[in-house]
Amino acid sequence: MKIPLKPSMLKVRRKGIKWIIIHHTSEMYEQPEARIDNPKYQLPGLFKGVLEMKQGDINYHYVIDKIQEDYVPIVCRPFSFICEWDDINADINERALHVALLGNYDFKIPEKRLYDILAYRVLNPALKLFRIPPSRIKLHNEVTNNKDLTCPGDFVDAAVIEAMVRKFVIK
Ligand SMILES: [Zn+2]
Repeated sequence: MKIPLKPSMLKVRRKGIKWIIIHHTSEMYEQPEARIDNPKYQLPGLFKGVLEMKQGDINYHYVIDKIQEDYVPIVCRPFSFICEWDDINADINERALHVALLGNYDFKIPEKRLYDILAYRVLNPALKLFRIPPSRIKLHNEVTNNKDLTCPGDFVDAAVIEAMVRKFVIK
């Protein structure tokens, strides 16, 4: 399936990137493809969600999907536009890069390889390019005003993300 590209529905980013926020896709897209990770390319499942919710594009800048043997970060919403998160303080959200792990990590433990790819291919380059410290990487549940939110899932470990970021630091 092909999703229509509708940048006119998106809000242009006016402020620099100062925060990186980690999610899992099961919070937003109800399609079964968004709730499990398996070796099939699952982004089309998210596109169905975009159409149903009448969004301009997927509401994350990057989604890390699992394709065959490995995890692959995919550009979803170009980072020159902001994502729509009413539960996150606008001061943070307008300066945030949103990265989602495809699946539901309330039920599944992330593989070490997923953390590796997240840090090496997405987090570390963004820290370097936008000149922000690792302390600006937050889990969605740390920046939301919704107390019941578990995103990016109970099994995602901030300490492991921190360790992987240290491993791939770009000097
Ligand atoms: Zn989230």
